[in-house]
Amino acid sequence: MDVKKLLKEMTLEEKASLLTGLDAWHLKGVERLNVPSVMVADGPHGLRKQAGDSDHLDMGGSVAATCFPTACAAACSFDPDLLRRLGQAVGNEARRENVQVVLGPGANIKRSPLCGRNFEYFSEDPCLSGELASAWIQGVEGRGVGTSLKHFAVNNQETRRMSIDAQVSQRALREIYLASFERAVKLGKPGTVMCSYNRVNGVYASQNPWLLTKVLRRQWGFEGATITDWGACSDHVAGVAAGMDVEMPSTNTTHDRQLVRAVKEGLISEELITSAAERVLKLIKKYTEDLPEVQPFTLEEHHHLARKASRETMVLLKNDGPLLPLAGSKRIAFIGEFAQAPRYQGGGSSHINAYKLTSALEAVRSVQEVSYARGYDSSSQSSDPNLIREAVEQARASYACVLFIGLPDASESEGFDRTHLRLPDNQLALVDAVCAVCAHVAVVLHTGSPVLLPFYKKVQAILCAYLGGQAVGGAAVDILFGAVNPCGKLPETWPMRLEGNPSYLSFPGDGTKVCYEEDIFVGYRWYDKRRMPVRFPFGYGLSYTGFSYSNLRLSRETLAQGDSLQVLVDVINTGLRAGKEIVQLYVQAPRGNVPRADRELRAFEKVPLEPSQTKTVSFTLNKRDFSYWEERIEDFYAPGGSCVILIGASSVDIRLRKAVLLEAPEALPLHVDIDTPLGDILAVPKYAAVLQPVIDMAMRAISPAEGTAGIMPPQALAAMLKEMPLRCIDMFAGDIVQPGMIEGLAAQLRMMG
Ligand code: BGC
Repeated sequence: MDVKKLLKEMTLEEKASLLTGLDAWHLKGVERLNVPSVMVADGPHGLRKQAGDSDHLDMGGSVAATCFPTACAAACSFDPDLLRRLGQAVGNEARRENVQVVLGPGANIKRSPLCGRNFEYFSEDPCLSGELASAWIQGVEGRGVGTSLKHFAVNNQETRRMSIDAQVSQRALREIYLASFERAVKLGKPGTVMCSYNRVNGVYASQNPWLLTKVLRRQWGFEGATITDWGACSDHVAGVAAGMDVEMPSTNTTHDRQLVRAVKEGLISEELITSAAERVLKLIKKYTEDLPEVQPFTLEEHHHLARKASRETMVLLKNDGPLLPLAGSKRIAFIGEFAQAPRYQGGGSSHINAYKLTSALEAVRSVQEVSYARGYDSSSQSSDPNLIREAVEQARASYACVLFIGLPDASESEGFDRTHLRLPDNQLALVDAVCAVCAHVAVVLHTGSPVLLPFYKKVQAILCAYLGGQAVGGAAVDILFGAVNPCGKLPETWPMRLEGNPSYLSFPGDGTKVCYEEDIFVGYRWYDKRRMPVRFPFGYGLSYTGFSYSNLRLSRETLAQGDSLQVLVDVINTGLRAGKEIVQLYVQAPRGNVPRADRELRAFEKVPLEPSQTKTVSFTLNKRDFSYWEERIEDFYAPGGSCVILIGASSVDIRLRKAVLLEAPEALPLHVDIDTPLGDILAVPKYAAVLQPVIDMAMRAISPAEGTAGIMPPQALAAMLKEMPLRCIDMFAGDIVQPGMIEGLAAQLRMMG
């Protein structure tokens, strides 16, 4: 397909027609010129290809596919290679089904644990989220299938998702909410980016030139096509003018005609339509021509992959005793409906028609006999005395019980947010009843987002499966009985109370707007800074073995602004089992005027280790890793000073630390006028050379007489002085300040540049 030639041959109407969908799942082609239509289908933890013609809500059902662990679970692996393999598998299924673009991954940040769609997102941290999203994208794209990185941007709640205005500072955008997408765009190179429904600082994402053109294309170098979320287009003409290419789903030809009319009436230029059409043609070409060979696979093989993946993603949250792994010969009861019918994915557009499902109850049969009691009805909140009685009987007769509980489908889904973090009452009552008669209780949690654990102290072990995909039951059994050592860690903080969450006072907004008042202090950045106790910190997870860290080495003691820093650290498996440790590197910025988080994740690595084996983990950091977003220069900026490199097993379990001195960068531009604080002026050496003598003169004028103390000590006076604006010099040294002198001084400093 010769895109340039095609564009010359196409009429304005044909070009405009490419900018709206053909139906719910296809982009238009141009029949006259043999340009094929391509198909898009939901993901990302599996393929949701609509079996019927065109409905958006899956009324016709979708073809059977592998349901891999959802993003909330996959993120616990901290393993980009795993995400790449999952992406390849989804890519293979898409190729077989003749789907050209898979709609995922979701790289939105988990601002609040209440967001109904958190199970589709990776993390509260942009480094982890962006890294995993880009690996998944690479996996899919490597199979000749496009991806659609979504929902761009700041779509962090379902309440009023189609109209809410997310009001966020530039710093929070660049350092947190956009940073996740930035990494995924730059490293993953997705074929498309899907805009979100909401407004961002007053303008719909679907027609936001700052977001779609300035940031995405100019600053990040995105070369693919943008598409709207389904129904996100409010004004297609404004959208195309802002950098939006394709509106989905189809609006028949209404919006095509509006575009043509807008060009004819001079409201937008034809070049804009041509550029957008060019990007769509390139997309069609990229995913229909010169494709790599289709990789052979069976759905059964993918089921095994789903089980392997789920093992990597389970997080052991508690293990007193240790109760786990369970000793095979003792009498064990599996209790709870989810043992037989696990909750393994969430509701909404990502819902996969799973080809197969393995429950824990089914998987355990190949390991040992267990008894089973349903315990609760997941479609209800009320306890059923018969179910509880049966469970208690089983529990009383057993050495250990494994309780399979979690959030039912009705509690979290696309389309609405949760209003609390509680598990259903009937499940909590079941846990209490079982704990009252059995001393060895392990809980397996199926949930898409954190929940409160009022039984935390009562049970011996907690294993979090999140929503682990169709093979989750098998993976849970592998871990419970020790065939596999758990190695996942939490990609988000589990709070003690909902009220402790940083977004608590402003989520989900007032119906029109939501103000991100916590700013950059999202997740652990908030809890750490406020020294707040949490149920489980970010990056936390236990293992059946132990790891110790030593020998932290930095390639330099002093770092110039352009230098990179190599960090090496040794990790040893100190226990008797093979295991995998997720080593986390955080950076603590130098103290300065700008509020910074105590530490921020900048790199991580999952390391497999045999017993007694040591491995050296290596990380490379660069200037960006020490920077914050500085609005005055509209760029990232790394102030000089002592930065500390922290190596941790979680965000609070910091094992090693070492400082590196970052050399000072060029000073930030300072506009001086009579209201500029003296301290800011004195911080710039060339200005200080002019201002300091004036201040010294003024200070001499007000110095207390020899032998008297004055009203405050000299250091306090100096500190107070720094906060005063330039114009206040005459307040304390009136006599020596002539009229116009201060304005003149400000002008003189400005002229120095
Ligand atoms: C969702 C998207 C999804 C699209 C197509 C929308 O409602 O927000 O994530 O890709 O529908 O199903």
